[in-house]
Amino acid sequence: MMQEAGNRVKYFSFYDWNWPWLQHGFSTRQGGVSEGEFHSLNLARSTDDTRENVQENRHRWLKELKLYGHKLVMGEQVHRSNIRAVNFSSPALIPETDGLFTDEKIALMGLFADCLPLYFVVPSRLVIGLVHAGWRGTLLKIGPVSLKFLQELWGIMPSEVLVGLGPSIGSCCYEVGEDVVKDIEDRFLECIRFVDEAYYLDLPYLNKLQLLEAGIREENIYGSRMCTACLEEEFYSHRRDTGRTGRMAGVVALV
Ligand SMILES: [Zn+2]
Repeated sequence: MMQEAGNRVKYFSFYDWNWPWLQHGFSTRQGGVSEGEFHSLNLARSTDDTRENVQENRHRWLKELKLYGHKLVMGEQVHRSNIRAVNFSSPALIPETDGLFTDEKIALMGLFADCLPLYFVVPSRLVIGLVHAGWRGTLLKIGPVSLKFLQELWGIMPSEVLVGLGPSIGSCCYEVGEDVVKDIEDRFLECIRFVDEAYYLDLPYLNKLQLLEAGIREENIYGSRMCTACLEEEFYSHRRDTGRTGRMAGVVALV
């Protein structure tokens, strides 16, 4: 489960994830300076919001997390399953990458407005990761691909890994086409609801089933049970706002 946190800027964090070496959170749309459809804490420069507003919002957000001035790395999210390890000398933006991992004292940030953020934490090894999983990345099994990456690079077993599933669009709102449904394996079809001639995908649940199959312990998977499309006060939603909207940020950092 996630809990509310923050003073000037409201955000959510995973209950129980309060180790002194970790900082993490998922922003809401509250506490920023942007206006109109971007009201108010839009954190993405790729939108039509002004650069000054996004700059101020990012400043507020990182200050709230006590990460302002901390080394920050983001991936250029392209809905594929490329994973990279980054470190203190990495550039601030990694091209064509939807998953970032590190064992150094840096912050990893991703931008979201319906897609699912996967937070990875390995307490036994002080390794963290942040992954962007929409339906495309999920069908490419970006969760299990990340676990394989951890095993190959650091010798980390899936049983050591904790994963937090942040807020995303829920099965209540996520209508998908038959083309998406036919690419989901039969054993995972319980993630699809069929209502009034339409298919609805439970994106977090599909990711959870994939992670369990890849060896994560059920007690090590943390959920949020929050739908970005339902909770208009809290979150931007690409689907609900038909594309003209801001972005929340997921951050995980070693401090
Ligand atoms: Zn919903």
